[in-house]
Amino acid sequence: MRKTVYYIEGDGIGPEVWKAARPVLEKALEIAYAGEKELEWIELLAGEKAFNETGRYLPQFTLDTLSRASLAIKGPLATPVSGGFRSLNVTLRQTLDLYACIRPVRYFQGIESPLKRPDLVDMVVFRENTEDVYAGIEWSANSPEARRLIAFLRDELMVDVAENAAIGLKPVTEKGCKRLVRKAVQYAVDQNRTSVTLVHKGNIMKFTEGAFRTWGYELAKDEFAASTIAEDQAGSGSKVVIKDRIADAMFQEVLIRPDQYSVIATTNLNGDYLSDALAAQVGGLGLAPGVNMSDDLAFFEPTHGTAPTIAGKDMANPGSLILSGAMLLEHAGWEKAARLIHQAVEKVIQSKKVTVDLASQIQGATQVGCGEFGELVGINLQGQC
Ligand code: NAD
Repeated sequence: MRKTVYYIEGDGIGPEVWKAARPVLEKALEIAYAGEKELEWIELLAGEKAFNETGRYLPQFTLDTLSRASLAIKGPLATPVSGGFRSLNVTLRQTLDLYACIRPVRYFQGIESPLKRPDLVDMVVFRENTEDVYAGIEWSANSPEARRLIAFLRDELMVDVAENAAIGLKPVTEKGCKRLVRKAVQYAVDQNRTSVTLVHKGNIMKFTEGAFRTWGYELAKDEFAASTIAEDQAGSGSKVVIKDRIADAMFQEVLIRPDQYSVIATTNLNGDYLSDALAAQVGGLGLAPGVNMSDDLAFFEPTHGTAPTIAGKDMANPGSLILSGAMLLEHAGWEKAARLIHQAVEKVIQSKKVTVDLASQIQGATQVGCGEFGELVGINLQGQC
């Protein structure tokens, strides 16, 4: 069986982590299924490589192809902090309606974590990906648009905003919240997870973040009544417990009581912060995989960015991309190959031959380059199962 995977190398460390990761995925498939299951890789252009070859950062052909695809994987794409350049990542998420960003966070034995019991960290973050302050609806201070909106707020809604304020909007819809929570609860039910926690800042932003909480509980009650139960009614049964936590408290909770949290569903900005913080608890961005999903396309990507200061120096950790690839294999139904990769990554970490980001967290570690780390994972695929 052959499945087509579209891939984008990405900017910065993208090409080097890609070069290290792809052979690992192919070898895992070969070992697990002896050539019976294969990936057909087709490259798509985006980012600097696309600009150099076509004069556009995100060619229409790339978007059109992805809009018809079911499996894709990408490296990180660069976005300058200010200026007229819209984030390619945000554009991809919004154009392709990749509404759920899913990031599993687990501990690999051998990493020295700031936590006492990092082994208790086993969470999957479902982050809403298209709404919230990420929708890109904002105007700079003193722009005609900002001034017009401020005048409207003052004259029509009796709301006072300083005339020279920059303005951004935070749209949150029932449809957007419910489809994200639906994916999270379905995952929890399918994977026998213990709970889904709705993370929000509803005590302050009542009609956006608070609504996320309300709609989340509503969805669980309306669509998953037989398999879920709200925390305040939970007994000792096996139903998935639906609970909620305020975002700031949640950052404390995942540090001191990680075993109480399994699946997390949250709005866009909360999810962005929380997934980086969780990644740091178990080894950092070098081991943080993820996927952005619509109803049709699963688009895998590491959580990290282009790491410009180490790009081209063979220092990056390809672990996030390798583990994102393992998620892709799992999604394709090829769990055996995915399991081999997880075991091999753990073995390499335990051998203490790791890239610089992990070497600084493991006593007595030997630092290896990006390419060598990939090769070591490949070697350790053999003999696993
Ligand atoms: P970053 O993730 O690139 O780097 C943060 C820190 O982590 C840096 O110290 C970096 O060296 C380190 N790091 C990241 N990945 C690593 C890896 N694989 N191995 C070892 N160390 C690693 O975040 P940033 O500096 O905020 O962003 C740089 C650029 O990447 C920006 O243009 C940003 O917009 C973009 N970005 C893209 C994505 C994406 O494509 N999904 C995600 C985040 C940031």
